[in-house]
Amino acid sequence: MKVTLFGTGYVGLVTGACLAEMGNHVVCVDIDQAKVERLERGEIPIFEPGLEPIVRRNHANGQLEFTTEAAPAIGHAQIIFIAVGTPPDEDGSADLQYVLGVARSIGQHLDRYAVIVNKSTVPVGTADRVRKAVAEELAARGANIEFDVVSNPEFLKEGDAVEDCLRPDRIVIGTSSERAVDLLRKLYAPFNRNHDRTVVMDVRSAELTKYAANAMLATKISFMNEIANIAERVGADVELVRQGIGSDPRIGYHFIYPGAGYGGSCFPKDVQALERTARAVGYEARLLGAVEAVNHDQKAKLFEFIQRYFHGDLHGRTIALWGLAFKPNTDDMREASSRRLMEALWSAGAKVRAFDPEAREETQRLYGHRDDMVLCDNAYQALEGADVLAIVTEWKAFRSPDFARIRAMLKAPAIFDGRNLYEPEAVEEAGLAYYGIGRGRSL
Ligand code: NAD
Repeated sequence: MKVTLFGTGYVGLVTGACLAEMGNHVVCVDIDQAKVERLERGEIPIFEPGLEPIVRRNHANGQLEFTTEAAPAIGHAQIIFIAVGTPPDEDGSADLQYVLGVARSIGQHLDRYAVIVNKSTVPVGTADRVRKAVAEELAARGANIEFDVVSNPEFLKEGDAVEDCLRPDRIVIGTSSERAVDLLRKLYAPFNRNHDRTVVMDVRSAELTKYAANAMLATKISFMNEIANIAERVGADVELVRQGIGSDPRIGYHFIYPGAGYGGSCFPKDVQALERTARAVGYEARLLGAVEAVNHDQKAKLFEFIQRYFHGDLHGRTIALWGLAFKPNTDDMREASSRRLMEALWSAGAKVRAFDPEAREETQRLYGHRDDMVLCDNAYQALEGADVLAIVTEWKAFRSPDFARIRAMLKAPAIFDGRNLYEPEAVEEAGLAYYGIGRGRSL
């Protein structure tokens, strides 16, 4: 089938590549000229396991094209995806300028029936606004062309995006148009061979499904962080509590890890946006507000521990940091807990020596060159001249370190483990102080 995708970020590029891999002819449009030029040269602007060979192969055989030109790309397709960013507005609601910009552009160039599929995470009611924007542009040029607008939210996880896209848990299709459902069923048939994963519903329910999924996951994390904060004060170990509750199949072990707060481009903005949506229709979403507030405080935890460890004075201290990305297997730094920590440390007069297997370039892009930040080539280099070590991202490479070597390199030997990677006793046996999240060793 002929498909066009607007936006070549984590969602657009992965979706485009996977659809091309299934034999579709895909054109990806982005307004970022530099990004399109890199993609044309076979360079992948983001780190996502397994993505590079799929993009290269399908670009080389002509199944996957990149362009900045909207008009021919719109003319190309039966199905047009919108997968552009929806960053938070000043008040926390989703900023729809990019989505509606694409909608207007589609209205300006559409020359025959197409299904317009919204993959961006957007508030309930956006499909109506997209429909209106397209219709206005069509009317402005006197064109009488039919089209459908569908909500098809994306559930891929950064770090597993290719796998999630090729083997989705569910494919939500929100529309009342049978014609659109038929076309999308055809497009997604190769992803449904094992069993049908399609859930068809009305467009508003589909839009809300995406927010509900992310809000539920964020709630699980904040809930566990709340339990961790209680555990810390009552001398309990949240890791044992986690196993104790996870064994109940109604609760399960997934996604109940306490830590230094959630980040990324989705949970923080989606929880906020859903809260704003609720408020706009006269409902105060108290639980969502609490989820957000707990997470905000949780991101300050490691800094508070480190500050107390040094009796409130961090001037001239050097903190080694393992992990910068908001989670492992990505280079994405949006809303990463590492950023709050680094910025707090800098404000308090400390220096940071950091290592991340993938997010170095992105960190450099965000913060430039500064005297109080050294980005290192490997984990142990980050410890050179450092006082203590803080861990913010649970990369596999950090799971079994040489504690004796860490002990020997640190000047004030302590590990602040923001992801509960280690057993406190193992660290303490090596002569290091250990502070995790909710492990009964508060400062
Ligand atoms: P991103 O910021 O990585 O990429 C967005 C891309 O859209 C950028 O390359 C930007 O240049 C491009 N763009 C903006 N306006 C454009 C236009 N008019 N025409 C063409 N391209 C344009 O964003 P992302 O992480 O891929 O997220 C996209 C959407 O999907 C968001 O709504 C997000 O909430 C949602 N989502 C993201 C994830 C994730 O894990 N990243 C998962 C599910 C859903």
